[in-house]
Amino acid sequence: MHLNPTYLALFSIPWFVHAQDDVDTVPVESRNHWMRRSVDALAELTGSPCPFEAFGSAIVNHSDTTNSEHGELICIGANSIIQNGNPTLHGEIAAINNCSRILTSEPYNLVGREALGAFQGLSLYTTAEACPMCATAIRWAGFKDYVYATSLDTLVKQSWPQISLSSSQIFEKASSLPTKTRMVPHVLADETDPLFAWQFNENGKCPPGCRRSRIGEKTNNPAAVGDTKRTCVPGDKGDEDGLAGELADEAVAGAAKGLRGLWTALFNLFKVAAPVGDEL
Ligand SMILES: [Zn+2]
Repeated sequence: MHLNPTYLALFSIPWFVHAQDDVDTVPVESRNHWMRRSVDALAELTGSPCPFEAFGSAIVNHSDTTNSEHGELICIGANSIIQNGNPTLHGEIAAINNCSRILTSEPYNLVGREALGAFQGLSLYTTAEACPMCATAIRWAGFKDYVYATSLDTLVKQSWPQISLSSSQIFEKASSLPTKTRMVPHVLADETDPLFAWQFNENGKCPPGCRRSRIGEKTNNPAAVGDTKRTCVPGDKGDEDGLAGELADEAVAGAAKGLRGLWTALFNLFKVAAPVGDEL
Protein backbone atom coordinates (compact mmCIF):
# COMPACT_ATOMS: atom_id res chain seq x y z
CA MET A 1 0.00 0.00 0.00
CA HIS A 2 1.33 3.40 -0.97
CA LEU A 3 1.29 5.88 1.88
CA ASN A 4 1.67 9.46 0.81
CA PRO A 5 3.55 11.86 3.10
CA THR A 6 0.39 13.69 4.12
CA TYR A 7 -1.10 10.43 5.34
CA LEU A 8 2.06 9.60 7.27
CA ALA A 9 2.19 13.08 8.80
CA LEU A 10 -1.42 12.77 9.97
CA PHE A 11 -1.12 9.21 11.20
CA SER A 12 1.92 10.04 13.29
CA ILE A 13 -0.02 12.62 15.28
CA PRO A 14 -0.25 11.59 18.95
CA TRP A 15 -3.71 10.99 20.42
CA PHE A 16 -3.15 13.59 23.05
CA VAL A 17 -1.06 16.63 22.44
CA HIS A 18 0.59 17.77 25.62
CA ALA A 19 1.33 21.28 26.77
CA GLN A 20 2.98 23.37 24.08
CA ASP A 21 5.34 26.23 24.53
CA ASP A 22 3.70 29.56 23.89
CA VAL A 23 5.98 30.59 21.05
CA ASP A 24 4.27 30.44 17.67
CA THR A 25 6.89 28.90 15.38
CA VAL A 26 4.79 29.12 12.20
CA PRO A 27 6.12 31.95 9.99
CA VAL A 28 3.92 35.02 9.52
CA GLU A 29 3.98 34.42 5.76
CA SER A 30 2.39 31.01 6.26
CA ARG A 31 -0.24 32.40 8.64
CA ASN A 32 -1.09 35.06 6.05
CA HIS A 33 -1.12 32.53 3.22
CA TRP A 34 -3.74 30.33 4.89
CA MET A 35 -5.84 33.24 6.09
CA ARG A 36 -6.08 34.41 2.47
CA ARG A 37 -7.04 30.86 1.52
CA SER A 38 -9.90 31.10 4.04
CA VAL A 39 -11.06 34.29 2.31
CA ASP A 40 -10.82 32.60 -1.12
CA ALA A 41 -12.93 29.71 0.22
CA LEU A 42 -15.87 32.11 0.39
CA ALA A 43 -16.09 32.76 -3.35
CA GLU A 44 -15.14 29.18 -4.14
CA LEU A 45 -17.90 27.62 -2.03
CA THR A 46 -20.63 30.26 -2.28
CA GLY A 47 -20.08 31.40 -5.87
CA SER A 48 -20.07 35.05 -4.80
CA PRO A 49 -17.20 37.43 -4.02
CA CYS A 50 -19.46 39.06 -1.42
CA PRO A 51 -21.53 36.43 0.39
CA PHE A 52 -23.62 37.92 3.19
CA GLU A 53 -22.23 35.46 5.74
CA ALA A 54 -18.54 36.06 4.97
CA PHE A 55 -17.26 33.40 7.34
CA GLY A 56 -14.71 31.23 5.53
CA SER A 57 -12.36 28.63 6.95
CA ALA A 58 -9.35 26.50 6.00
CA ILE A 59 -7.91 23.53 7.91
CA VAL A 60 -4.22 22.93 7.41
CA ASN A 61 -1.49 20.46 8.31
CA HIS A 62 1.61 22.57 8.94
CA SER A 63 3.71 19.45 9.55
CA ASP A 64 3.53 18.37 5.92
CA THR A 65 5.71 20.61 3.76
CA THR A 66 6.07 18.12 0.91
CA ASN A 67 4.22 20.24 -1.62
CA SER A 68 4.46 23.68 -0.03
CA GLU A 69 6.61 25.39 2.56
CA HIS A 70 3.37 26.70 4.08
CA GLY A 71 1.98 23.22 4.78
CA GLU A 72 -0.79 21.10 3.31
CA LEU A 73 -4.43 22.13 2.95
CA ILE A 74 -6.79 19.40 4.18
CA CYS A 75 -10.17 21.09 3.59
CA ILE A 76 -12.06 24.37 3.40
CA GLY A 77 -15.50 25.48 4.55
CA ALA A 78 -17.85 28.46 4.36
CA ASN A 79 -20.95 29.43 6.28
CA SER A 80 -23.82 27.66 4.52
CA ILE A 81 -26.70 27.93 7.00
CA ILE A 82 -29.07 29.35 4.39
CA GLN A 83 -28.09 27.01 1.53
CA ASN A 84 -28.60 24.00 3.80
CA GLY A 85 -31.24 25.27 6.21
CA ASN A 86 -28.91 24.17 9.00
CA PRO A 87 -28.20 26.75 11.73
CA THR A 88 -25.04 24.95 12.86
CA LEU A 89 -23.24 25.22 9.54
CA HIS A 90 -21.05 28.16 10.41
CA GLY A 91 -17.78 28.33 8.44
CA GLU A 92 -15.75 26.50 11.09
CA ILE A 93 -18.30 23.69 11.59
CA ALA A 94 -18.72 23.31 7.81
CA ALA A 95 -14.93 22.96 7.47
CA ILE A 96 -14.72 20.40 10.31
CA ASN A 97 -17.50 18.37 8.65
CA ASN A 98 -15.69 18.52 5.30
CA CYS A 99 -12.41 17.47 6.90
CA SER A 100 -14.05 14.50 8.66
CA ARG A 101 -15.38 13.30 5.29
CA ILE A 102 -11.97 13.79 3.64
CA LEU A 103 -9.91 12.17 6.40
CA THR A 104 -12.10 9.05 6.37
CA SER A 105 -11.93 8.77 2.55
CA GLU A 106 -9.19 8.22 -0.05
CA PRO A 107 -6.29 8.79 0.23
CA TYR A 108 -6.29 9.02 4.04
CA ASN A 109 -8.83 6.29 4.84
CA LEU A 110 -8.57 6.93 8.58
CA VAL A 111 -11.03 5.15 10.85
CA GLY A 112 -13.13 7.38 13.10
CA ARG A 113 -10.80 7.31 16.10
CA GLU A 114 -7.78 8.09 13.92
CA ALA A 115 -9.59 10.99 12.26
CA LEU A 116 -10.51 12.41 15.67
CA GLY A 117 -6.86 12.18 16.71
CA ALA A 118 -5.70 13.80 13.48
CA PHE A 119 -7.45 17.08 14.32
CA GLN A 120 -4.97 17.54 17.15
CA GLY A 121 -2.21 18.07 14.62
CA LEU A 122 -4.16 20.45 12.40
CA SER A 123 -4.64 24.23 12.39
CA LEU A 124 -7.98 25.92 11.77
CA TYR A 125 -8.03 29.33 10.07
CA THR A 126 -11.17 31.45 10.02
CA THR A 127 -11.98 34.91 8.66
CA ALA A 128 -13.58 35.98 11.95
CA GLU A 129 -13.39 35.09 15.62
CA ALA A 130 -15.50 32.01 16.30
CA CYS A 131 -18.88 32.21 18.02
CA PRO A 132 -19.23 30.23 21.28
CA MET A 133 -20.59 27.19 19.38
CA CYS A 134 -17.61 27.07 17.01
CA ALA A 135 -15.01 27.97 19.64
CA THR A 136 -16.33 25.06 21.71
CA ALA A 137 -16.15 22.71 18.70
CA ILE A 138 -12.58 23.87 18.08
CA ARG A 139 -11.64 22.95 21.64
CA TRP A 140 -13.47 19.61 21.53
CA ALA A 141 -11.59 18.80 18.30
CA GLY A 142 -8.36 19.76 20.05
CA PHE A 143 -6.91 21.67 17.10
CA LYS A 144 -3.23 22.51 17.40
CA ASP A 145 -3.86 26.12 16.34
CA TYR A 146 -6.92 28.32 15.97
CA VAL A 147 -6.17 31.39 13.86
CA TYR A 148 -8.71 34.14 13.29
CA ALA A 149 -8.80 37.54 11.60
CA THR A 150 -11.72 39.90 12.36
CA SER A 151 -12.51 40.12 16.08
CA LEU A 152 -15.85 39.57 17.79
CA ASP A 153 -15.68 43.20 18.97
CA THR A 154 -15.44 44.39 15.37
CA LEU A 155 -18.42 42.24 14.35
CA VAL A 156 -20.49 43.70 17.20
CA LYS A 157 -19.46 47.24 16.21
CA GLN A 158 -20.68 46.46 12.69
CA SER A 159 -24.09 45.46 14.18
CA TRP A 160 -23.68 41.71 13.66
CA PRO A 161 -25.94 39.81 16.07
CA GLN A 162 -23.60 37.83 18.32
CA ILE A 163 -23.60 35.81 21.52
CA SER A 164 -21.11 37.86 23.47
CA LEU A 165 -18.66 35.26 24.73
CA SER A 166 -15.16 35.64 23.35
CA SER A 167 -12.96 32.73 22.28
CA SER A 168 -10.66 33.54 25.19
CA GLN A 169 -13.54 33.06 27.62
CA ILE A 170 -14.54 29.72 26.03
CA PHE A 171 -10.91 28.52 25.99
CA GLU A 172 -10.53 29.44 29.64
CA LYS A 173 -13.54 27.28 30.53
CA ALA A 174 -12.10 24.40 28.46
CA SER A 175 -8.85 24.24 30.39
CA SER A 176 -9.63 20.78 31.80
CA LEU A 177 -9.76 19.14 28.36
CA PRO A 178 -6.80 16.85 27.58
CA THR A 179 -5.68 18.96 24.61
CA LYS A 180 -4.27 22.44 24.20
CA THR A 181 -5.12 24.78 21.33
CA ARG A 182 -2.94 27.77 20.56
CA MET A 183 -5.01 30.85 19.68
CA VAL A 184 -3.52 33.25 17.14
CA PRO A 185 -5.77 36.33 16.85
CA HIS A 186 -6.06 39.25 14.41
CA VAL A 187 -4.17 37.72 11.46
CA LEU A 188 -4.85 39.97 8.44
CA ALA A 189 -7.85 41.58 10.13
CA ASP A 190 -7.25 44.68 8.00
CA GLU A 191 -8.03 42.52 4.95
CA THR A 192 -11.06 40.70 6.41
CA ASP A 193 -12.75 43.56 8.31
CA PRO A 194 -14.18 45.01 5.03
CA LEU A 195 -15.90 41.66 4.38
CA PHE A 196 -18.16 42.36 7.37
CA ALA A 197 -18.63 46.13 7.04
CA TRP A 198 -21.48 46.39 4.52
CA GLN A 199 -24.23 43.98 5.59
CA PHE A 200 -25.81 46.22 8.24
CA ASN A 201 -24.64 49.56 6.93
CA GLU A 202 -26.06 50.75 3.61
CA ASN A 203 -23.21 53.23 3.31
CA GLY A 204 -20.55 50.57 3.85
CA LYS A 205 -18.21 49.95 0.94
CA CYS A 206 -18.75 46.70 -0.96
CA PRO A 207 -15.85 44.19 -1.13
CA PRO A 208 -13.81 44.03 -4.37
CA GLY A 209 -15.78 42.55 -7.26
CA CYS A 210 -19.11 43.73 -5.84
CA ARG A 211 -21.39 46.77 -6.03
CA ARG A 212 -24.49 47.99 -4.23
CA SER A 213 -27.74 46.61 -5.63
CA ARG A 214 -30.51 48.95 -6.69
CA ILE A 215 -33.82 49.04 -4.84
CA GLY A 216 -36.11 46.49 -6.46
CA GLU A 217 -33.22 44.62 -8.08
CA LYS A 218 -33.63 40.88 -7.62
CA THR A 219 -30.77 39.42 -5.59
CA ASN A 220 -30.07 36.16 -3.81
CA ASN A 221 -28.85 38.04 -0.81
CA PRO A 222 -30.84 37.67 2.43
CA ALA A 223 -29.90 41.24 3.35
CA ALA A 224 -32.15 42.51 0.57
CA VAL A 225 -35.37 41.56 2.34
CA GLY A 226 -38.21 42.10 -0.07
CA ASP A 227 -35.66 43.76 -2.36
CA THR A 228 -36.30 47.03 -0.58
CA LYS A 229 -32.78 47.29 0.77
CA ARG A 230 -29.52 47.77 -1.03
CA THR A 231 -27.08 44.95 -0.57
CA CYS A 232 -23.73 44.03 -2.13
CA VAL A 233 -23.96 41.89 -5.24
CA PRO A 234 -21.34 40.68 -7.70
CA GLY A 235 -20.66 43.38 -10.27
CA ASP A 236 -18.22 45.73 -11.86
CA LYS A 237 -16.76 48.54 -9.88
CA GLY A 238 -17.62 50.78 -12.86
CA ASP A 239 -21.30 50.33 -12.06
CA GLU A 240 -20.73 52.22 -8.84
CA ASP A 241 -20.46 55.52 -10.76
CA GLY A 242 -23.83 54.95 -12.42
CA LEU A 243 -25.26 53.93 -9.08
CA ALA A 244 -23.87 57.06 -7.43
CA GLY A 245 -25.80 59.12 -9.99
CA GLU A 246 -28.94 57.10 -9.31
CA LEU A 247 -28.53 57.53 -5.60
CA ALA A 248 -28.16 61.29 -6.03
CA ASP A 249 -31.31 61.39 -8.21
CA GLU A 250 -33.18 59.34 -5.63
CA ALA A 251 -31.99 61.68 -2.86
CA VAL A 252 -33.27 64.73 -4.81
CA ALA A 253 -36.55 62.93 -5.52
CA GLY A 254 -36.84 62.02 -1.83
CA ALA A 255 -36.19 65.61 -0.76
CA ALA A 256 -38.78 66.93 -3.27
CA LYS A 257 -41.31 64.41 -1.97
CA GLY A 258 -40.55 65.56 1.57
CA LEU A 259 -41.12 69.21 0.60
CA ARG A 260 -44.37 68.35 -1.14
CA GLY A 261 -45.50 66.57 2.01
CA LEU A 262 -44.61 69.60 4.10
CA TRP A 263 -46.53 71.99 1.80
CA THR A 264 -49.55 69.66 1.82
CA ALA A 265 -49.47 69.53 5.61
CA LEU A 266 -49.25 73.34 5.85
CA PHE A 267 -52.03 73.72 3.31
CA ASN A 268 -54.29 71.34 5.27
CA LEU A 269 -53.46 73.19 8.45
CA PHE A 270 -54.39 76.46 6.80
CA LYS A 271 -57.69 74.97 5.58
CA VAL A 272 -58.52 73.79 9.09
CA ALA A 273 -57.35 77.03 10.70
CA ALA A 274 -59.26 79.32 8.30
CA PRO A 275 -62.83 78.75 9.63
CA VAL A 276 -61.57 79.25 13.15
CA GLY A 277 -60.18 82.60 12.01
CA ASP A 278 -63.56 83.49 10.45
CA GLU A 279 -65.31 82.98 13.73
CA LEU A 280 -63.05 85.44 15.47
ZN1 LIG B 1 -19.87 29.88 14.78
